Amino acid sequence: MVTTLDEKLESAYQEVLRRNPGEIEFHQAVREVLETLGPVLAKYPEFAEHKIIQRVCEPERQIIFRVPWQDDQGRVQINRGFRVEFNSALGPYKGGLRFHPSVYLGIIKFLGFEQIFKNALTGLPIGGGKGGSDFDPKGKSDSEIMRFCQSFMTELYRHLGEYTDVPAGDIGVGGRELGYLFGQYKRITNRYESGVLTGKGLSWGGSRVRTEATGYGTIFFADEMLKARGDRLEGKTCVVSGSGNVAIYAIEKATALGAKVIACSDSNGVIVDHDGLDLALIKQIKEVERRRISVYGQEKPSATYLENGNIWTIPCQVALPCATQNELNGKDAEMLVKNGCIAVAEGANMPTTPEGVRIFQDAGLAYGPAKAANAGGVATSALEMQQNASRDSWSFEYTEQRLHQIMIDIHRDCHETAAEFGAPGNYVVGANITGFVKVARSMLAMGLI
Ligand code: NAP
Repeated sequence: MVTTLDEKLESAYQEVLRRNPGEIEFHQAVREVLETLGPVLAKYPEFAEHKIIQRVCEPERQIIFRVPWQDDQGRVQINRGFRVEFNSALGPYKGGLRFHPSVYLGIIKFLGFEQIFKNALTGLPIGGGKGGSDFDPKGKSDSEIMRFCQSFMTELYRHLGEYTDVPAGDIGVGGRELGYLFGQYKRITNRYESGVLTGKGLSWGGSRVRTEATGYGTIFFADEMLKARGDRLEGKTCVVSGSGNVAIYAIEKATALGAKVIACSDSNGVIVDHDGLDLALIKQIKEVERRRISVYGQEKPSATYLENGNIWTIPCQVALPCATQNELNGKDAEMLVKNGCIAVAEGANMPTTPEGVRIFQDAGLAYGPAKAANAGGVATSALEMQQNASRDSWSFEYTEQRLHQIMIDIHRDCHETAAEFGAPGNYVVGANITGFVKVARSMLAMGLI
């Protein structure tokens, strides 16, 4: 992996640091992309001439707003809402909403920036954006969640539209929250505009496979990386961090393809079950009862619960980080390599620190970065938009087949681009360049906007 930037890229990066002080996750995401773009500027000097890099690093629009709501005790609570409409060269802004106390502008910008290139990789007409709030849904009643979502949408609605900006879920935003958000949008606008949000329930415009898509897609990508090396996921021992939407469906598809998943986690601890995780029990705990993963340890004698444990110390052949950013550092990467890990596919966004990535690449692991490996979620969101636009509803089998083919195509494009730019097998180079070139060409075609 290249660690220094050439002169033009360095000055663009310095400008990003100067303009966005303190937004460390955003700096990290920008640097990771810029580190791979030197050969692109050499091949396409017009991108530098038209300052495409500087333009792509500056969001088209950043919205920050107050979200006042009342808790069950009648007390007034104030949160901050964000929507960063980053780039619309390829289509309406598209990207999820995150509700988590750690959310601030730097998190939303890193996610929005990544989303631009990820969405380009899907080959579907969607631009990049992201939003959310520092609201913590944990421990809140359904009524509190509803009041918060209604207040959040009361401001956000004016910026949305099926041809303008189309949010979806992310950490802390699932089917329940999207229901409340869509209900409020419909009420305020007096429009049943299905295509304005994705991840909807099946009875009100949602797509089959959307819930499963990010996790399934990550597993399809992992399988493709292994196939490119004459291997496959079947028979492999896997570890999946997190136990939310992405983690659950990564576990489901990995198991369906014949792998054995022996560990998962939440922010309090890790569950290890060498018999293979019981997914029905995890779904009951997490999707139905909304409880902590420690409950699994109480219900399954075969399992061990490690309070505050580090999941990356558990030996596995395939590691699937599916929780959050920077959850896998250099030390963790060293441990995984030492324990015989051969592949890493990122279900979460930017879960591996730059040092961790370097260690994986130096050790020759198959390393699938988030932009490519977890693009199945947003790709299926775009399929949901297609179904909404044509007032149609596809079968599970057909939708999954479309998702699977999209992941195969993304893998192929990244693999070929990496080889073309002199870095065979380097999916970071492949994903960044493939995504960036599509966006850059479109921006050039549209003039100085
Ligand atoms: P989710 O359903 O809310 O689940 C998040 C999981 O990660 C939970 O198990 C949570 O544990 C854990 N987690 C969150 N923050 C953590 C932290 N700071 N430290 C340790 N664990 C933490 O969210 P999700 O939709 O699965 O998203 C997971 C990741 O995938 C995120 O990086 C997201 O951006 C990415 N992603 C999601 C989608 C999608 O379609 N949903 C698409 C592409 C990428 P607790 O419950 O203890 O907090």
